[in-house]
Amino acid sequence: MKTHFRLIVLGGGAGGISTASRILSKKKALENEVLIIEPGDYHFFQPGWPLVGSGEVNLEATKKETEKVIPKGARWMKAVVDSVDPVKREVKAGGKTVSYDFMIVALGLELDYEAIKGAEKSLGKNGVCTNYLYNYVEYTYESLKNTTGGNILVTKSQSLIKGGVSAENSLFTMDDFMKKHDRDVDIIFRTGRSEIFEVKKYSDSLVEQLEAKNIDYKLNEELVEVNGEEKEAVFKNHETGETHTVPFEMLVITPPMHGPSALKGSGLLDDEGWVDVDKHTMMHNTYTTVFSLGDASNLPTVKMGGAVRQQLPILVDNLIQRMDDDDPTHIYDGKTACPIATGYGELILAEFGYNKIPKETTFLDQSDDKKLFYQFKKNMLPIMYWYGMLNGKS
Ligand SMILES: Cc1cc2nc3c(=O)[nH]c(=O)nc-3n(C[C@H](O)[C@H](O)[C@H](O)COP(=O)(O)OP(=O)(O)OC[C@H]3O[C@@H](n4cnc5c(N)ncnc54)[C@H](O)[C@@H]3O)c2cc1C
Repeated sequence: MKTHFRLIVLGGGAGGISTASRILSKKKALENEVLIIEPGDYHFFQPGWPLVGSGEVNLEATKKETEKVIPKGARWMKAVVDSVDPVKREVKAGGKTVSYDFMIVALGLELDYEAIKGAEKSLGKNGVCTNYLYNYVEYTYESLKNTTGGNILVTKSQSLIKGGVSAENSLFTMDDFMKKHDRDVDIIFRTGRSEIFEVKKYSDSLVEQLEAKNIDYKLNEELVEVNGEEKEAVFKNHETGETHTVPFEMLVITPPMHGPSALKGSGLLDDEGWVDVDKHTMMHNTYTTVFSLGDASNLPTVKMGGAVRQQLPILVDNLIQRMDDDDPTHIYDGKTACPIATGYGELILAEFGYNKIPKETTFLDQSDDKKLFYQFKKNMLPIMYWYGMLNGKS
């Protein structure tokens, strides 16, 4: 196999496949000069998982074989990236060393269930659920159907997370499920964050929903321990340091998350462990042959596929400029999109940029839950993802 490539893409998820596709469609000379390093046999449409957890979507529909999404003209190295040397422009993966002229880092982020005592061994039984792992998502719906009393406890970590509103999606749809089935179940939300949402317009709308639906919610409460057999969860308050134990019948965990550990010590990460790029051009702040987007990057916006969709054309245009020895001039304004189901069939579509001012696509008030937005997320988004975005279309 060749050992030097014009472009190496680390990670074959949403950001890696879409940018590789787009640059190959724009620069034909790159054929066979793009290497994607990705260990997984399957590529996942992760935004579909909360809908699997609420029984709306079939799990199988959220995955495809990786070889079917690798763009024509790219090569796939099925391996885990172990380390990167951006000075030598070398990547070590699967016992081999490959070198590059340019690199896109799209390694996503890592889930840290280990930070919650007892969580890993509790998952998938005694009503302990998560929508963040393919193998456990179906158990969420199974538990939902089996819960007829007590508490459903939904948690969200303070850390930066992907799918930033997935906990709220679960919260509202589970509340709706219980009401529709006339079950006497209390819905409880505990978030490590100090606010419900970062943009006031949508935060106001969500708080209104929480209160109207009588959902018991508390801020600054971090899940630190799970005892599945006793059906108890322990929270630590970020402000007071006090701990509280909350009983549950069903627990839905959004764990803490962190940046790619393979890049530790490479000089590519910022102090918080995310890939350190310019927030407008997505070019690395030190190494001008490196770009990054999506969950792995330190772009200060909510980590969503909807953000990757906005980032990808800008990154590719800037990378092409760098390949032509020009400075990157295309600007990303931080736009992201957070769809929040407020029940079965209704959804708030929050869209905004770095300035936290709503930047909505439709002429409707997107902070008001709409059937149209729900149908869009459930039926249109997967089609746009598999056939548009992964083919490099924004
Ligand atoms: C439960 C859930 C709900 C979500 N809901 C939404 C939603 O409603 N709307 C929305 O827009 N987004 C949503 N998202 C977020 C969205 O899926 C991510 O933001 C998006 O996938 C980010 O793309 P990425 O390329 O940065 O990371 P990913 O798509 O996660 O891809 C990273 C890739 O890197 C690979 N990788 C990791 N480590 C290594 C390594 N060492 N070597 C080689 N490869 C490696 C992984 O295997 C993976 O394929 C949700 C996510 C989850 C989990």
